[in-house]
Amino acid sequence: MATLTFLGAAGSVTGSKHLVEAGGKKLLMDCGLFQGGKELRLRNWDPLPIDPATIDWIVLSHAHIDHTGYLPRLLRDGFRGTIYANSATRDLCGILLPDSARIQEEDAEHAAYKGFSKHENPQPLYTVEEAQAALGRIQVIPDTAAFRISSQFSARLLGAGHILGSSMIELTITENGKPTVVVFSGDVGRYDQPILRDPEPPPRCDVLVCESTYGDREHPGDSPLDALAEIITRVSKRGGAIVMPAFALGRTQLLMYYLRQLENWDRIPTLPVYVDSPMAVSVTDLYQRYKKEFDVDFQREAQNGDPLNCREFHLTRSAEESKQINKLNAPCIILSASGMATGGRVLHHLARRLPDSRNAVLLAGFQAEGTRGRSLAEGAKTLRIHGEDVPVKAEIIPLHQFSGHAGRSELLRWMGGLADAPRQTYLVHGEPEAASALQAGIRERFKWRADVAAYRQKVKLTPQG
Ligand SMILES: [Zn+2]
Repeated sequence: MATLTFLGAAGSVTGSKHLVEAGGKKLLMDCGLFQGGKELRLRNWDPLPIDPATIDWIVLSHAHIDHTGYLPRLLRDGFRGTIYANSATRDLCGILLPDSARIQEEDAEHAAYKGFSKHENPQPLYTVEEAQAALGRIQVIPDTAAFRISSQFSARLLGAGHILGSSMIELTITENGKPTVVVFSGDVGRYDQPILRDPEPPPRCDVLVCESTYGDREHPGDSPLDALAEIITRVSKRGGAIVMPAFALGRTQLLMYYLRQLENWDRIPTLPVYVDSPMAVSVTDLYQRYKKEFDVDFQREAQNGDPLNCREFHLTRSAEESKQINKLNAPCIILSASGMATGGRVLHHLARRLPDSRNAVLLAGFQAEGTRGRSLAEGAKTLRIHGEDVPVKAEIIPLHQFSGHAGRSELLRWMGGLADAPRQTYLVHGEPEAASALQAGIRERFKWRADVAAYRQKVKLTPQG
C-alpha cells in the first residue's frame, strides 16, 4: 500500500518534503530548506531518515527556497534521480539555488573567521557547485498536461497563483490497477491580486495535502494601495527613509508594481526607489520573459511599457553600489532581501536605518518564528545584526495586505472548489496554531475530517474500495 511521510513543513512553514512510496519506488514532493529559528535550521544538518540514494524522483511545486533549497544537499548525500518542474520554476531555481548556496558558503566563511563555530573548519550546507549540479538534474514538464513518471506515478501541475510558475500538484498513484489521487496544494496564492492569476480550483482527489500558513488569520480587506500611499507620504514628509525587507521573488515585484501605480496616479511623491538585491534584478528580468503567464491586466500593461519600473528607479547589483545607499540622507525607498531579515543585504540597511525614528520599516510578508522580521513585528527594542545590538527607533509597520499566501477564508474558498470530500486531508506548512485553526474551520465548514501532519509521521494512502 502506498504511504506518505512528512519529512518537513509539518508543524512549521518551512522545509517542505513529502515522501510518497508506492510499488517499491520513492517520489519526493518538494525538497525545501528549513528556515527560521536555530532549532529548525539545525534540522537541515540532520541526515534524512531515508537514504537519499533510494529516492527515484522529485517534483517541485514552486521555486521558493523552503520548497527547493535542500536539493543540492540531497545530491551531495547521494540522490541520483530526476527532478521535475515546469519551465518557470526551473528558471527561477537557476537564480535562487546558487544564491542560497552563496549564503551557505558565506555563513561558513563568516563562522570560520569569527571563530564562533564549534567546528574546527565550518563547512557550508552545500556549495554553489553543488547547486549547479542540482539544476542539471531538473527536467522540464508541461503545465496542465498529465505527465507519466513511471508505472506507479503520474503528475499534473495546476496554477496555484502564489509566485511565477507556482503549482499545485495532482499525483495519481496506481497500484494493482487501482488509482489513488493525491493533491498537494503547494503554496496557495491569493484571489483578485494584480500580476498573478487566481489559484485554480483543486481537482477531485482521494487525499488532500494542504498548506495552512495563514490558517488562523485573515489578510486585511482594505486596499494595500491606500495603506502604502499613506505611509510613504507620511514618512517622506518627516524626512525618513522606508526599508522594505522583501523576498527577491514575488513580493519585490508586487511592491514595485504598486509603487509605479501610485506614482502614475500622483498619490505619492517621486522618491528614489532602490531595489538592492542582485537576485531581484534577475527575477524581474524573468518576469518580462514570462509575461504570458500573468493575468490579463498585467499582460496589457506590459505591452504599453514596464509596469515594474518607477520614475526614479535604481537597481543595484554590486556590493559597492549597495553601500552607497547608506550615505543617503534624503527620503527614499529601499527594497532588499531577505524578506524575514534572516540575512542578505537588508541587514546593513536595517542596521543603518533602525536607530532613527524618522525612518520606517515595512514588513510585507510572512515573518516566521525565530527570525529578525518576527522580532521587529513583535516590538523588539533592539535587534542583533552582525554581532551588535541595534536600537529599534524606526516605525515598524506590518502590512499583511501584501502576503503572497491565501488567508484563512481564501484557503477555505480554495478547498470549497472540491465537489467531493477527500477521504483524508492533511494540513502542512503552518505553525501549530495556524494548522489547528484551519483544521477546526474545515470541520465546521465542510464536515470533513482533517489531520494536522506531524514531522516524520507516516500515513497509509488507501486506494478506493
Ligand atoms: Zn512559497
